Amino acid sequence: MKLTDSLGRNINYLRLSVTDRCNMRCFYCMPKEGIVNKGHEAVLTYEELLLIAETAVGLGIEKIRITGGEPLVRSDIIAFLGRLSVIPGLRHLALTTNGLLLSEMAADLYKSGVQRLNVSLDSLNAQTFSDITRGGDLNKVLAGLEAAEQVGFPPPKINCVIMRGVNEEEILSFAELSRLRGNSIRFIEYMPAVKEDDWQRYCISGEEILEKIAARYTLEQIDKGAFSGPSRDFRIPGARGSIGIITAVSGHFCSECNRIRVTSTGQAKGCLFADAKTDLIPWLRPPDREGLAKVLRAIVSTKPERHDISQDGYTHTNFTMSQVGG
Ligand code: SAM
Ligand code: SF4
Repeated sequence: MKLTDSLGRNINYLRLSVTDRCNMRCFYCMPKEGIVNKGHEAVLTYEELLLIAETAVGLGIEKIRITGGEPLVRSDIIAFLGRLSVIPGLRHLALTTNGLLLSEMAADLYKSGVQRLNVSLDSLNAQTFSDITRGGDLNKVLAGLEAAEQVGFPPPKINCVIMRGVNEEEILSFAELSRLRGNSIRFIEYMPAVKEDDWQRYCISGEEILEKIAARYTLEQIDKGAFSGPSRDFRIPGARGSIGIITAVSGHFCSECNRIRVTSTGQAKGCLFADAKTDLIPWLRPPDREGLAKVLRAIVSTKPERHDISQDGYTHTNFTMSQVGG
């Protein structure tokens, strides 16, 4: 079954957040003091998350990405992933992590049925990494990347947010990883989530990132995978890994958007940057599969055509990315 929105976009991808808590404090994602913890009852139980996942897959979702906050800090996450991975019709289960706990959890994650890991890593310099994450330990993340491969995962994809004046000098080092280590690198434009007045100062467009790489390497455009959605993918000839550009802010994005999102408190969103969200709790407590299917379909059919964050006068309610899941 295909799930299609009113513009004919095929919606096959659900980003499901399991927590808004995190063991890091990346400055572009979370305030320094963290966020006010939601009460226990506000956060969806694993049963409820599973009901959403099963219903979404029943409607045509084929890929689920587990995200957060940091998904690996939620207790019993491995058992939950094991249950998700066997949902009939689900073709791809992936997880995005900051990698801090990966070295100790990689083996269990692999056994749980997760097929692919994305690790967020914005700097290969220990000090810059610590500055961006407000204290994160680069070595732990690097050890996690190693461990993931040792237990059998393909080289994790690396999500890298490039910011002017912060890590722009590292674009080529990350591109090199696709050649030297076989990781696929996803360069992500900085997005104004925790909106500062002059947020534009961090922005480097995907085009500029590409130009910098193309000035050093030949880049061949490659076909994207079935679920890659709005990324443009390239390869340095001979490299095992690819280089993807996600131009969430500067454009080329919305017309190919293939995803919906559900937060750990059950708020469903058709667009990351739209204020509109739908509270799924009434269909979860008590569980109402049919009602939930109807409301998920409605979220898909009213998915906005585009966001307008690249335009002047952009106003959205401030949010922390950790609450929506990126
Ligand atoms: N904690 C996990 C991690 O960091 O991978 C998963 C959740 S995190 C919110 C998901 C992704 O959102 C990360 O790759 C992160 O870099 C990205 N992200 C968070 N805030 C962002 C921002 N303001 N602009 C661009 N990407 C952002
Ligand atoms: Fe935590 Fe991920 Fe947000 Fe960084 S980007 S603060 S690791 S949720």
